[in-house]
Amino acid sequence: MDKTAKIYVAGHRGLVGSAVLRALQAQGYTNLVMATHQEVDLTRQEAVEAFFAQHQPDHVILSAAKVGGIQANNTYRGEFLYDNLMIEANVIHSAYQHGVKKLLFLGSSCIYPKLCPQPMSEDALLTGPLEPTNEPYAIAKIAGLKLCENYSRQYGVNYISAMPTNLYGINDNFDLANSHVLPALMRKFHEAKLEGQPSVTVWGTGTPLREFLYVDDLADALLFLMHNYDAAEFVNVGTGQEVSIKELATTIKAVVGFEGELVFDTAKPDGTPRKLQDTSKLEALGWKAKTSFKEGVEQTYRWFVENYEHIR
Ligand code: GDP
Repeated sequence: MDKTAKIYVAGHRGLVGSAVLRALQAQGYTNLVMATHQEVDLTRQEAVEAFFAQHQPDHVILSAAKVGGIQANNTYRGEFLYDNLMIEANVIHSAYQHGVKKLLFLGSSCIYPKLCPQPMSEDALLTGPLEPTNEPYAIAKIAGLKLCENYSRQYGVNYISAMPTNLYGINDNFDLANSHVLPALMRKFHEAKLEGQPSVTVWGTGTPLREFLYVDDLADALLFLMHNYDAAEFVNVGTGQEVSIKELATTIKAVVGFEGELVFDTAKPDGTPRKLQDTSKLEALGWKAKTSFKEGVEQTYRWFVENYEHIR
């Protein structure tokens, strides 16, 4: 991937795509193409084909997806399945038809079985039933990685897939009902502090364990894979470290400076009990996450405060 290669970043306004764009620009890539949702609806095949015919990118980073936290996944089940299947099928097939040399597809660690042995290694895929709350999203992401794998095998293209663990960072979605746990709690603690509320409600029991990767570290890993990885089999991207939801809440509470209580709402679902990736494959290739969890939460909170008026 030389610095003048034409690179299409799909989903450039999202958490992942915007971090990829920052990383590409910081590394001196100048020939970047992108389109907003209004310009090209990636769930529409004709729109995607016309976009590829017009721009003819050399490389594609497919970070466009319909995403959300446990409640959004569980509520908009049909939309999560349909939109993600359509986006992947349209972008991957159009890329193939228009001679894209290398494509990187972004999946998710929820592709693994609910009761997967921990840490979850790449070969645990399709070895057991999925977590019901995000099964539709997971099925779509499994279809996407299989498209890349099998287009590579049948057509000899270089379409790779990365499965990131739970992500957070600047440009995240901070919506209280539909976002992931980290941005949701950051916003809850911040607003509780401003309003002088006595407590903040955390969903579930607080016992589930999750791994969190700072999105700029992910972007760094993705560019590393674009340069150094050419196999059809997908790769996990994580930190190898996990925290309980209770520990996560306590860390965010301290960073925000909220002094009230934590209340656990056990009527809300916990989701999968544990979700830690085995990152040994990526480490053997030579990549490791750099940002500590505390540092990542502090940087995200700084950005959140500065951009509070415009957050999603
Ligand atoms: P998951 O990793 O796919 O389960 O998605 P989430 O990031 O939405 O949730 C992770 C865990 O955090 C689950 O056990 C949730 O019940 C818990 N959680 C606690 N408080 C919240 C909250 O305010 N929002 C969300 N989305 N999850 C929360």
